[in-house]
Amino acid sequence: MTFEALGLHASIIKALDEAGYTKPTPVQEQAVPAALQGRDLLVSSQTGSGKTAAFMLPALHKFAEAEQPAQAAARTPNQERQAARSRGERPRFQPAQPKMLVLTPTRELAMQVTTATTKYGSYVRRVRAVSILGGMPYPKQMQLLSRNPEILVATPGRLIDHMESGKINFSQLEILVLDEADRMLDMGFIEDIEKIVEATPENRQTMLFSATLDGVVGNMARRITRDPLVIQI
Ligand code: AMP
Repeated sequence: MTFEALGLHASIIKALDEAGYTKPTPVQEQAVPAALQGRDLLVSSQTGSGKTAAFMLPALHKFAEAEQPAQAAARTPNQERQAARSRGERPRFQPAQPKMLVLTPTRELAMQVTTATTKYGSYVRRVRAVSILGGMPYPKQMQLLSRNPEILVATPGRLIDHMESGKINFSQLEILVLDEADRMLDMGFIEDIEKIVEATPENRQTMLFSATLDGVVGNMARRITRDPLVIQI
């Protein structure tokens, strides 16, 4: 099996070549084709299995295929503010409207996911990923959000703060990923996760990764996905 055979966009294959990846890992082989078809996924796999690429490659493919001109025509929040100033109006804060959200239990994992995304997406134009993390200085986070990144990678607590204060709006969200969902629940994030999920459109694509799909995590997984493909590695 090759990455080409999985049907990924040429710009992504190029980045994978440069990263030295010669073939998909087992979780990627199963997850990528289903995710490319837009299916929800419930995946039980461990760290080190290549799970980050399993959800990020199909997402980047979707962004690479999307009609870029229409997107380019929309103003970024920064451009909106400049336009308001040039009309002599006081600029209003424009909330970030990400297309993809990845929730992770820890800052470290969020940063790894963001770094991997930048690597896999280095040839996909106009796609930026940023991490929103507890402990990061507030002005820095505002600066990142004001660029209206397509992909947000975040720990749940800090994200809720921004959501509730109107800095982020999920009405345009297309893809939701819960990475290491069992760990997020162990850390007590269930209420935050439910609030975040409720703020996203029902027709989103949802992909959940977890060491186990039993018990509480399995219950939540089934509540937030529709007809998911279950992959056990
Ligand atoms: P992850 O499970 O996503 O944390 O990935 C574990 C490690 O495997 C990371 O260092 C990735 O860069 C690497 N990796 C992921 N997919 C592949 C692949 N298809 N070929 C080689 N290395 C990979």
